[in-house]
Amino acid sequence: MGSDGFVKFVEEVSQIVSAYEKINAEIETKKEKLSTLVDRLDTIIICSSCKRLRLKDGTWIDNPIDGKKELFIKDLSHGYCPECAKKIMSEI
Ligand SMILES: [Zn+2]
Repeated sequence: MGSDGFVKFVEEVSQIVSAYEKINAEIETKKEKLSTLVDRLDTIIICSSCKRLRLKDGTWIDNPIDGKKELFIKDLSHGYCPECAKKIMSEI
């Protein structure tokens, strides 16, 4: 490897490192968002029908992890969000 090749190699490595750092920062942000979200969950209620989650303020949000949430939240109550409740009521 000549000195030009070495410079190129170092450039490539630093590109990979900065890409890695960017991804890492993204992961950290996502983790933070997730823990904020979990903090906002009161009695954790998941809609049995559409799998949305209820926040402390009573709003329902799309489950960020597609029902996999059930795998790591033990005290999960099943219920129905207002929309699904309405749908079920109208079907009875
Ligand atoms: Zn629902």
